[in-house]
Formats: sequence, C-alpha cells, structure tokens
Amino acid sequence: MIIKEVKVKSILTKSNLPLGGYSVNPYIGCSHACKYCYASFMKRFTNHPEEWGIFLDVKYWDKIKNPQKYSGKIVGLGSVTDPYNPQEKIYKRTLAFLEEMKDSGAEFVILTKSDLILRDLQLLKNLKKIIVGFSINTLDENFKNDMDKASSIEKRLKAMKILYDEGIKTVCFISPIFPEITNIEKIFEKVRNICDTIWLENLNLRGSFKSTILNYINEKYPQYSILYDEIYNKNDKSYFRQLEENIQLMAEKNNCKYVNNKLIEEDNPKGHPAIVNFFYHEEVRGSENTGRRNK
Ligand code: SF4
Repeated sequence: MIIKEVKVKSILTKSNLPLGGYSVNPYIGCSHACKYCYASFMKRFTNHPEEWGIFLDVKYWDKIKNPQKYSGKIVGLGSVTDPYNPQEKIYKRTLAFLEEMKDSGAEFVILTKSDLILRDLQLLKNLKKIIVGFSINTLDENFKNDMDKASSIEKRLKAMKILYDEGIKTVCFISPIFPEITNIEKIFEKVRNICDTIWLENLNLRGSFKSTILNYINEKYPQYSILYDEIYNKNDKSYFRQLEENIQLMAEKNNCKYVNNKLIEEDNPKGHPAIVNFFYHEEVRGSENTGRRNK
C-alpha cells in the first residue's frame, strides 16, 4: 500500500449524490480495492497513476469553522472511500472528523464495508442523528473475496446487528446488484431483523472496470455471459425493470414500505425494513462524476 499524508483546506464538500447535503472523504483512494468501484475515477483527478486500491492519501484539514452551520444537514461519509478502511485503525481521520462534528447537529450517513466501525460505537450513539449502512451484495464469501478486500460478510452482518441492537439506524445497502449473482431475497431474509432500511442499486459498468467485470463473468459465470452482454453492451434495461417489479412485490408481500430515491425518516417495525430503490442513479444524476460508489 502506498500511503501519503496530505493537507487539505476543507473536509466537507457539497454533495451531488441523491441524498444531497455534504460529502466527507477522510481519505483519497481505498484499500478495499473493489473491482467494481465507481470511485476509481478519482485517480484522474488526484494524480494517481497507480492501480485503484493500492494507494491511500490520508487527509488532514483545517479546523472546521462553526460546525453548527451543518445542523440539520445530511453529511455523508465515504462517497469515494471507505471511512473505515484498515488504515483508519492507525490514522483515525474518520474518528477525528466525527469528534470535531459531534455537537454539530448534522445528520450523519456513514457507508462502510468494515466492522471497524464498532470501535466508534459510543461516539456514534451520542450523535443526534446517524444512519449506518453496510454494503452487502452477496452472502457468498468466495464471490465477495473475488470482488473486494473488505471485511467478510459475516463480520458486516455481526456489526450491523450490534449497531441495530444499540438503537442506531442501520441500512443494508444491497449494492451493486450483480444480475443473477446477487440473491436479493436471501439477503433480505438474513437482514430483515437487523436493519431499518434496505437500499438497492443496480450494477453500473463504465470506465476501466467494465472489461474487468465482464471478463470475470465470462471466466467464472459463463452461463451469464449473454445476459451481461445484453445489459452492459447492448443497453437492455429489461432485466433490471423486471427486478424492480419483483422487489416491489417482495416489499408488498412482507409489509415493507417501498420508495424510490429517498431517505425514510419514520421508524419501521422489526422485520419490516423499508425498501428504497436507487436503481439507475446514473439516469437520475446523469454524470460520470456523480462518483457514487458502492460500499
Ligand atoms: S466501492 Fe467503496 S469500499 Fe470499495 S473500493 Fe470503492 S470506495 Fe472502497
């Protein structure tokens, strides 16, 4: 891992993600090295010729002036890095940010693929408003290991349960949904009692990782090669349109609320997480620079 410490002026930037508010990325790069990472476009903007996943810039910023200015605003951590990557254990920049902002009244949304977040449990419990999302797009640890170097699915599920039991709002972010590989119903059954909301997002292939993923499918899942070709080379949206309908039916069958592209504010009864569909966010925002990544 190539690690550099860098000084930045500000750590909060206006977000153009569907949730709005502000984005905070205490690191540039991400050692979880997901093969499908949408954030890998960051290489272009940050002068990093290295492969995505092997460099990490650790950010230090000027003291945040007037944290109360963010009261009631959404502050999303980790749109283009995982705020709880393994190096956070050493550098603690996410922890430093949360400490600085803990009395701000901001509404924090943290997305991660790591159980390191449990280290900050007490601090998270003291924040006025907090949502923690764990990205889980498979229950198959082998597929997960093929795709990323983050915590095992088992550890993510355990961490989700601990946070949920401690009263923190949790999200299972089923993303990116790999056609025919991501089994949404099975994941739903596993998490329905340990999360408040389920977010869903389709796999979107673009840039350099498109061929990486398509080659992987051809090699490991040749039975789906034609399907992936239809979706990702011929732009056929019927698979995901049908999947949307199936998910809506699954929500109805299980008495779960189903909405598109918005945060759910109300509490949901145990076993009935709200289901939020973020499919085709690229159509909603229409730009490669949305930079949304799947944790
Ligand atoms: S998808 Fe998220 S966790 Fe994975 S490498 Fe990208 S930023 Fe890191």
